[in-house]
This record gives sequence, structure tokens and C-alpha cells, in this order.
Amino acid sequence: MEQRKPEWLKIKVQANDEKNDVERILGKLALPTVCKEARCPNLMECYGRRTATFLILGRNCTRNCQFCNIQNGPPEPLAPDEPQRVAQAVVTLKLDHVVVTSVTRDDLPDGGAGQFAAVIAAIRRLNPDATVEVLIPDFQGERTALQKVVAAKPDVLNHNVETVPRLYPTVRPEADYHRSLTLLARVKEDNPQILTKSGVMVGLGETEDELIAVMKDLRTAGCEALTIGQYLAPSRYHHRVVAYITPEQFKRYEILGRELGFRHVASGPFVRSSYRAAEAFSAF
Ligand code: SF4
Repeated sequence: MEQRKPEWLKIKVQANDEKNDVERILGKLALPTVCKEARCPNLMECYGRRTATFLILGRNCTRNCQFCNIQNGPPEPLAPDEPQRVAQAVVTLKLDHVVVTSVTRDDLPDGGAGQFAAVIAAIRRLNPDATVEVLIPDFQGERTALQKVVAAKPDVLNHNVETVPRLYPTVRPEADYHRSLTLLARVKEDNPQILTKSGVMVGLGETEDELIAVMKDLRTAGCEALTIGQYLAPSRYHHRVVAYITPEQFKRYEILGRELGFRHVASGPFVRSSYRAAEAFSAF
């Protein structure tokens, strides 16, 4: 049975005018965000601070992960003007640090890597001072696809391992833990200047020892920044929450992560991989 939500997971942020303005700008440019599509608990706060994470390559995902609220469905055609619309939104929102992610597109020969590269290039053209962070899928382990993104030189390349390897068959059945680690290692091999980042959700049934082992694997892959947040089940049809991790335990994970050599660790109940990404980047 699902446990009752603890007090520390009750959100107190109110909507404000900035949030409405962000929604208006994104609506006008027909740009979805993962904030909205995944029903992120931080939406009020992030939109209220005029930040958002762009979701490219459509709203429908070709995978069906048991933790995620993005809908599975028939993939949408690529929009050739999408890079320009994202770049325009960056101008209008006056973003210093841009985070772009996508649904997984296993139907595309390059998994959508070319579109990521085009989006990065368009942002750089219109916003030469903005820093760019991409949160990418695994491109099914295709190195040439990954190289397209690396060649576009994002400032940060983020790829989440999401959970401990033991839980992959139930939480991420179409993904592969070692494939994700390899992806992160290859980024550093191909361009050591790009900062690499990964994220895990906790409360899915992992043990502390398993999480520490994941942190060590990430460090071995050269990963420099880590986010750790509480898993919250989007519905009763998703993987259940096995444990609500206490704020004290999150702090402990943060300290452990720093001791293992991550340059930045964000660990807390509401931390998501793009949560306060600009602040995380400036802390590098
Ligand atoms: S944490 Fe990330 S996904 Fe969630 S609202 Fe903020 S920017 Fe969007």
C-alpha cells in the first residue's frame, strides 16, 4: 500500500504573474516543457522564476518507463522550425542558462540527436551568451548519434541513470544501466570540456549501498554533477513509492556524493535533474 506523504513533501509555492507570462510565451511559440508534460512538482516555482525545461521532438515517447508521466504514443513528425522557436523563447524569457530535453525517439535513425544539435546551434546563434544544457536519452547506445550532440558543444550534457541497476527491469525495462554509463564516459572521451551530469530518483526500493555503488560508477564514468530527488508516482498505474526519503538522508547522500568527488551534488526531496540548473552550472 502507498504510504502517506510526509509533511516535507507538501508544496507551499503560489502561482504568480511570472508563471502566467512564461505560459503565454511558451504557448505562443507552441513549445511544450517537461515541467508541464511530466507534471513536475516544481512547476510553480520554476515558471515563477522564469525558467523552464524545453521538451523537443514531440510530446509522445516511444518508451514506457514505469516512473515517468510523459505519454507513450505514436511519435510526431520532426518540426523543422523547432530549433528556431526554442531559440526565440530563450530570447524572450531572457534565459542565461537553457535546459533542453526530449522524449525518447527510438523510431528515428539517430534517436533525435540531429535535432538536439540543431537546437543548440539555433540557441547559440540568437543567444551567444547563454549556456546550454541538454538532458538526452541514450540513443540506444549509438555512438554516432551521441557524437552529433557532442559536436554541437553543449556546456553541460546530462543523462540520467534514474535508479540502481537491480531495479532497471521493473523501472526502466527498455533501458540499460551500463549503456547509460558508457554514454557518459564517451562524452568525456570525445570532448572533456563538456561537463557531464546525471540524476537518480530515490524511494523506488534501492538501498543506500546500492546508491553509493551507482555514485561510484558515475564517478568512474567521469560524471561531474549529480542530482538526487524523491520519486513520486505520477499515478497508481506507475511504479509505487517504496519509501519517502527523509531530508536528513538526502543531506547524507549529498555529503557522500561530494566525498566521492562530484563537483556539484543537488540532493533533496524536490530535486529534479533540471531543478535550479542555472545555479548548479554556476557552482561548477
Ligand atoms: S525542476 Fe525542471 S522539470 Fe521541474 S519545473 Fe523546474 S525546470 Fe521544469
